[in-house]
Parts: sequence; C-alpha cells; structure tokens
Amino acid sequence: MKRIPVKTMFLLTETGAAVSMLALSLLLFAVTGEDRVLLAGALLTACALIWLFLLTLFFARRLSRFTDDLCRTMDGMITGGGEPARADDSETIFARISCRLSRLYGILQENRRKVDAERRELQTLVSDISHQVKTPVANLKMVTDTLLAKPVTERERRDFLQGIRSQTDKLEFLVQSMGKASRLETGAITLEKKDGPLIDTLALACSGIVYAAEKKGISVEVRCPEDLRVSHDGKWTAEALFNLLDNAVKYTPEDGKISVSAEQWEMYVKLDVADTGRGIPESRQAAIFRRFYREEEVHDQPGVGLGLYLAREIVTRQGGYIKVVSEAGRGSTFSVFLPRR
Ligand code: ADP
Repeated sequence: MKRIPVKTMFLLTETGAAVSMLALSLLLFAVTGEDRVLLAGALLTACALIWLFLLTLFFARRLSRFTDDLCRTMDGMITGGGEPARADDSETIFARISCRLSRLYGILQENRRKVDAERRELQTLVSDISHQVKTPVANLKMVTDTLLAKPVTERERRDFLQGIRSQTDKLEFLVQSMGKASRLETGAITLEKKDGPLIDTLALACSGIVYAAEKKGISVEVRCPEDLRVSHDGKWTAEALFNLLDNAVKYTPEDGKISVSAEQWEMYVKLDVADTGRGIPESRQAAIFRRFYREEEVHDQPGVGLGLYLAREIVTRQGGYIKVVSEAGRGSTFSVFLPRR
C-alpha cells in the first residue's frame, strides 16, 4: 500500500466506485427490469465520477502547492535563509508540519551559531599560538644564523647558546601550559577533591617561588592556620596558587612584599595572595584572566599569558572562583575562594 502513488490510489478509488455503482445498477435492473433504474444508475455513476475527478484535481493542486512550499522552505533552511512561515491554523496537517519545521529551523540555527562560535574560537586560538611561537622561533633562527655565518669567540658562543636555551625553555613552557589548559578544558584531567590541610598545598606552591623572591629581595609572609582543612585537589590547587605567587614575584619590584593569608568562611575557604607590585588598572582586570592576555608593559618579563587562565580553570573546576582587587602602582590582591565541601 505504502508504495502505491497517490495518483494511482485516486484512480483506483474512482474506478472501484464506478464499477461497483454500475454493477449495482445492473443488478437492480436485472431484478426490476426497469429501464429507469439503469438510467438512474448511469447518471449516479457519472455524477460520482465527476465529483471524484474534481476532488482528485483539488487534492493534486493542494499537494503540489504544499510540496512546492515545503521544498522552498527547506531550500531556505539549507542555504541559511529566513525562518519558515508559521501557519496560523494549528489543526491542519500543513500547520503541524510547518510548526515542526519552525522548531527544526530554530535548532539548526542554534547549532550553526555554536559551530560559528567554535570556529571563531579555534581561529583565535591558532592565531594566538602562532603569535606566541613566532618570537622565540625568530630569535632561535637569528642566533643560529649568526652562529653559522661567522666564527665567534668562546664567550659569544656561550651567550648565544644561553639565548637558544632560554628561547627553547619558553617554547617548552608554552607547550606544557597549552597542554594543561587543553586537558583541563576537554576533561582529560579530572580534579580529585580530597579533604586535606591547606597549609601543605600552600607550602608546595610557595616552594616554587622562594628562590626567585629571594633573588629580588621580596619578603614572603604566609599566614595559614595549621588546622585549616578544605576539600580540594592538592596538586592542582598548588599549581593555581603557584601561578598567582609567580605573578606576584614577577610583577613586584625589588624589595617588595608578598603576603599570603588563608581564612575560613561559612561556605568557603578564602585565600589571599597580596603583593606591593605594579598593580592592574581596573579597565584591564577582567581581561587578565583571558587566554594569552598579557599587558603591554610586561613584555620584558617571562610569561605567555596562560597563568591566570589556568589558575581560574583549576579553581572553577573545583566549584570555587577567583577575584582580583588592584590599584595601578600600589599592588594587587588575588583572592581564591574554595568551597569547604
Ligand atoms: P603571564 O604572567 O604569563 O603574562 P598571566 O595569565 O599569569 O600571564 O597574567 C596575565 C597578565 O595579568 C600579566 O601579563 C600581567 O599583565 C597581569 N598580572 C597578573 N598578575 C599580576 C600581578 N600580581 N600584578 C600585576 N599584574 C599582574
């Protein structure tokens, strides 16, 4: 049945109706023997055939208009044209289909927007990465070209090799940071929260900056109750705190001061990393958490602009958040809020 075309169905119905009416008329004629019965039967059959023919014509027209509209709407949807027109009457089959088409159109548009946004993000990421890689690669090329082009003294050779080393370190750091960010974003790394003393995590983070702080004559003061416990991933939280502390050392001039303090709130444990450094103007305080964002003025300092982005990812993935209070020229305080459970 499903395979029979609509046209053939109508034709079959019409033929069936005509044949059965004629058969009935002949039967009646045979029973009654009246000519009028035959005439009436023939007239009735002719009328039924005309009406059925008109019905077929009307239905065929309607169907063809509907398929034309449907094709036009679908073409519009495929090429990203406007939203399909909604039929007012919600009872007819056409209105029901058009309503579903509108919903489908909405879903398609939403998916298209998502794909566009992802594509734009990917483009920005690729351009950011190429921007980050460009400078160290250009420096490496310049140093190796010089080394190849002319003979150098032993001292120059050492300087050039140091230069190569520092550029490869930068590239390595960039690759490692990007790897971490990507694994965190894709969920390849899951943070395991366990109840533990915060002081141990803080000690781990601070151990990474002791030498650099000492070299700049920066004092580091840590205040954290020994019995302060919080549910957190020790290794990753230490990494986030290290990024904040590392920035504090980098962006604080010699003989400055860094204070770290932790206190328990009702729902959160709050951890402050305060420095007496260069500070961040208010207009840029939201931007500093963006991937690869670096302030113009800090380009003489090492860094790729992923430290705060990673720190925020690590903290938010544990249900917490980071905020910054800062004043240009006076210092900054980064506060990490970790939920107690
Ligand atoms: P990076 O330090 O590698 O540049 P971050 O993501 O850690 O990248 O920091 C982004 C930017 O935020 C830095 O380039 C710097 O301009 C600013 N910044 C971060 N921490 C501080 C701070 N403690 N004091 C002043 N500026 C800061």
